[in-house]
Amino acid sequence: MVSKIMPVAELTPLETQSQILDPQIWSIDEKNTRPNCIFCKQELTIYIFKNIRINKNSYNLSECGKCKIGMLHPFPSEEELAKLYSCGNYRTDAGKRFGFAIEFLIYLGRLRKRRRINQFIKTGKILDIGCGRGLFLDVMRRGGWDTLGTEFNEETASYAIKTYGLKIFPGDIARHKLPTGDIDVININQVLEHLKNPNKVIQESYRLLKKGGMLIISVPNLRSPQFAIGKKKWFLLDLPFHLFHFTEEGLCKLLSKNEFKVKYIKRFSLEISPFGWLQTLLNISGIRFNLLYDLLKSPELKDSAMEPIQVKGIIAIFLLLPIYFPLALVLSVLEPLIWKRGGSIEIYAEKK
Ligand SMILES: [Zn+2]
Repeated sequence: MVSKIMPVAELTPLETQSQILDPQIWSIDEKNTRPNCIFCKQELTIYIFKNIRINKNSYNLSECGKCKIGMLHPFPSEEELAKLYSCGNYRTDAGKRFGFAIEFLIYLGRLRKRRRINQFIKTGKILDIGCGRGLFLDVMRRGGWDTLGTEFNEETASYAIKTYGLKIFPGDIARHKLPTGDIDVININQVLEHLKNPNKVIQESYRLLKKGGMLIISVPNLRSPQFAIGKKKWFLLDLPFHLFHFTEEGLCKLLSKNEFKVKYIKRFSLEISPFGWLQTLLNISGIRFNLLYDLLKSPELKDSAMEPIQVKGIIAIFLLLPIYFPLALVLSVLEPLIWKRGGSIEIYAEKK
């Protein structure tokens, strides 16, 4: 169903857009001005979307034919990113994003993840890169694990420190010069796609892990049926926050290049897969983009996100939910079984 999802022919070269590429990050091929892949430095050959307008800025999404990883270009500027992250799309000051019922589901998901990790490593030291509110680390600590976290967002980090008393390092992990070979498990959950240099973080993870230690990376999957159907309206595309768009093949290649051995791939996520489908189905039905997601956010976020009130959209969601909710559940279960391609993938890779 999704063997060929890239509409290569309809997209044109990017010569005219060379002025908007950021030379600090992107190396530009002198001859044809197309950007090169951040990983292999070769020209990006598969154009997925061009000229996507977000907040008066224009972005392109292309994939490296060799690395099988999609990249946004240019990256948003630091200023633009700071503005986007602070406007409430990601977290409130207190750190809570959703209402109680959904927060509880997320908590159950974390408990199940601890059980999965325990199948490989019983206990030890875990580092959560981009640990957010520290909910997962708290669950791991309750299971007897020694915990460490890193978090870019200062307010979110201080929530994790105050609420759970966790040890959280601010910002970039490489900055902190943690001892080599000291950690049993490193978790990078829905974070790698936001980072400007994912390879650097994987290399640093390799250094920090003990031999036989486990790196767990969870990312949205560009080769998923969710993306094939939703295209620009896919809920997990999340532009321009997601700078990289991984495929299962691409992430496995990147990990093996960095001396990791993939042990297990999970293609269903209770937290992500059904909602990813549901919101994508609603988005392609013409309802205001991500309206349900905004409705489910905690009240502090809702006020700013809900103006003007979308009465028609809300009615349409209520009418469609009895069909779309079971459909989203069925598709989430079927996509890993039939197509072996989940909307979000979680890869467990061992340090060789
Ligand atoms: Zn490449």
